[in-house]
Amino acid sequence: MVNMKTVYGPVPSWRLGRSLGIDVIAREKTCSFDCVYCQIGRTKNKTCKLQEFISLKRLEKDLSEVINKVKADYITFSGMGEPTLASNLGQAIDLIRGLSDLPIAILTNSSVFSIKEVREALSKLDFIVAKLDAPNEKLLREINIPVKEITFDKILDGIKAVKNEFNGKFALQMMFIDKNKNYASELANLAREIEPDEVQIDTPLRPCPVKPLSQKEIEKIKSEFKGLNAITVYEAKRPKVEVIDLRETRKRRPKL
Ligand code: SF4
Repeated sequence: MVNMKTVYGPVPSWRLGRSLGIDVIAREKTCSFDCVYCQIGRTKNKTCKLQEFISLKRLEKDLSEVINKVKADYITFSGMGEPTLASNLGQAIDLIRGLSDLPIAILTNSSVFSIKEVREALSKLDFIVAKLDAPNEKLLREINIPVKEITFDKILDGIKAVKNEFNGKFALQMMFIDKNKNYASELANLAREIEPDEVQIDTPLRPCPVKPLSQKEIEKIKSEFKGLNAITVYEAKRPKVEVIDLRETRKRRPKL
């Protein structure tokens, strides 16, 4: 796994169009969560400690090889775990800015937003997609199964801090499954406090151990989000993509 590329895709994203993936973990799955619906399997290295997983030199080489050949709408930090655990995230963003004019996004689980250095790195992005699936500590432990240091209050305070400091587009991503489908109104109220530019209402349509909610159930959930700019995975269109390396991409998107 250490020989993984740090760039993959582009993948068709219902939120970001053709999304060229940047993986600042690029090794066995490393995350502060172990979400029950995770499409890349169980977390092998469960941690909330910031570390340098890949060198910037390696990222520069991988990205330079493909950046002029791919058609993409966004360059997106995602991959084999939680990208905000990378201590060189801010430097990686600076490096990408020097190689491409494409907007840069991140898909993040919001778990370490309370760390100032993480918020400084995030402030360099164009688009933050921040996960919030649970309206309380109990559901957080049941759905996202975080490391013990990460609490619901810490996550919520961190999300508010990032939202208040950030000048780009800020979205909340909420994954709905059986466990939290009856908590849409509580989650909508939290979203009203946070005031995101967008709320992405998701359910795991890609293969994973948890069954997705039906379109009807998701529509009912959306009706709780009145007054917010809410979009759902069922309504979204997926673009056609030309993947640069199918093997590398399938490590992060097993059923592309
Ligand atoms: S936060 Fe993302 S990578 Fe981590 S376990 Fe959850 S879905 Fe998987």
